Amino acid sequence: MRRPMVAGNWKMHGTRAGVAELLEGLRKLPRSGEVEVAVFPSSLHIGQVIDGLQGSGITVGAQNSAIQPEQGALTGEVAPSQLAELGCKLVLVGHSERRQVMGESENVLQQKFAAAQACGLKPVLCIGETLEEREAGKTLEVVERQLSSIIDTFGVAVFANAVIAYEPVWAIGTGLTASPQQAQDVHAAIRAQLAKEDAEVAARVQLLYGGSVKASNAAELFGMPDIDGGLVGGASLNADEFGAICRAAGN
Ligand code: PEP
Repeated sequence: MRRPMVAGNWKMHGTRAGVAELLEGLRKLPRSGEVEVAVFPSSLHIGQVIDGLQGSGITVGAQNSAIQPEQGALTGEVAPSQLAELGCKLVLVGHSERRQVMGESENVLQQKFAAAQACGLKPVLCIGETLEEREAGKTLEVVERQLSSIIDTFGVAVFANAVIAYEPVWAIGTGLTASPQQAQDVHAAIRAQLAKEDAEVAARVQLLYGGSVKASNAAELFGMPDIDGGLVGGASLNADEFGAICRAAGN
């Protein structure tokens, strides 16, 4: 019922030449319609990537977009309407690097989420606990609060057109991965929280796991019943490794 999805977050990596090489590798990957594949290049390279992936079946998203839908006086930001015009389909909202390093508040994330949807972009809402919160036994409380911030503001129906990525902060870029059971427990709690409001939305929404996903651990993670694929950082910068992760999602 839910199509598996694998999304590559390239973060602040890449030069024009490096991106061209990565695109060449991605274009050579065997295609499988079963898995939805997306990449999120830096804003600078979005145009290059959209052009380079024409006809490949790979969707392109942005890592960030502005709090208002339309273009205007907001120095340094990119409007979701501009991204949509370029051909972007998705946008990350609430990645932990933006929550923690850029200090994005729940209020800012709510605005970004709504502005993206208003322009036809599908938000990928990233939520997850820090190591300190996990060790204090607060994982489910934190994740529930981050999800409630959107549900309580806009209603659960907005998740009919959004993706959720559970990304424990302690597993991002660290080489540490949540065990398949640890990840499944949180994914099940997220789906149950949505189901309390709307069972159909809960059953349909794609829940991705993110945090040091690699070809060697992807199959086990994606084999869990509530894990519908992955949001992949470091390993998405290598086309062969990323391709192997995409294949694991299809099996
Ligand atoms: C991410 O940036 O969303 C991520 C999960 O990174 P990594 O796979 O490198 O841990």
